[in-house]
Amino acid sequence: MRVYRLAFSVCVLVPLFVAACSHAPEFVAQEEPWRADAERACLTRVNIASSPFVTPRSALGGPSVCGALKPFDMNGTVSGRVRLVPAATLQCQMIPTVDRWVAEVVEPAAQRYLFSQLVELKVAASYSCRPMNGISGGKLSEHGHANAVDISAFKLADGRTVTVKSGWNGSSAERDFLHAVHRGACDVFTTVLGPNANSFHADHFHVDLARHGRDGNGRVCQ
Ligand SMILES: [Zn+2]
Repeated sequence: MRVYRLAFSVCVLVPLFVAACSHAPEFVAQEEPWRADAERACLTRVNIASSPFVTPRSALGGPSVCGALKPFDMNGTVSGRVRLVPAATLQCQMIPTVDRWVAEVVEPAAQRYLFSQLVELKVAASYSCRPMNGISGGKLSEHGHANAVDISAFKLADGRTVTVKSGWNGSSAERDFLHAVHRGACDVFTTVLGPNANSFHADHFHVDLARHGRDGNGRVCQ
């Protein structure tokens, strides 16, 4: 394992012209050749360019081991029936997986428990070169590989918005919906973290395609 210290810092001018600087947290990461191999295999297998809701963007390279070979901005899923707001920056394998989760789990759960059609997912985070949970010195987050997305709310055609923060322990319909969405995510993603995981996930679902365990086939569903 190698410790990467991000060399840049972000400074902004605040009133009174005092420069307030926040230094990017450092993280621990290792070279993982499987990532580029898996991404290349996906790019040859999946015809992502056919979707008008998924736009290729320039490569995300670094700093350090962060990035993806050919990331995409995804602003809609399931043929555009459901918006992603703001657009999520994701690597190849995440795109059909998000589609599958929404089509097979989230849309049916919205109909079943909330009696309305799902129209939008609120994206709380996607690509971000940072340690897990933002804690300096931690392992690099899957967000740093464009291999994760955080969803904080679900908008419905009837105007309602169900947030993870208030709905997880909210009305029975909201609870049933969110718990079904979380449970079903565990069938398609390899990591799913929600409010039961820890306080960092009190207001969103984190889903990613990390490899877990010695053989890489482990799953985390919390
Ligand atoms: Zn996350």
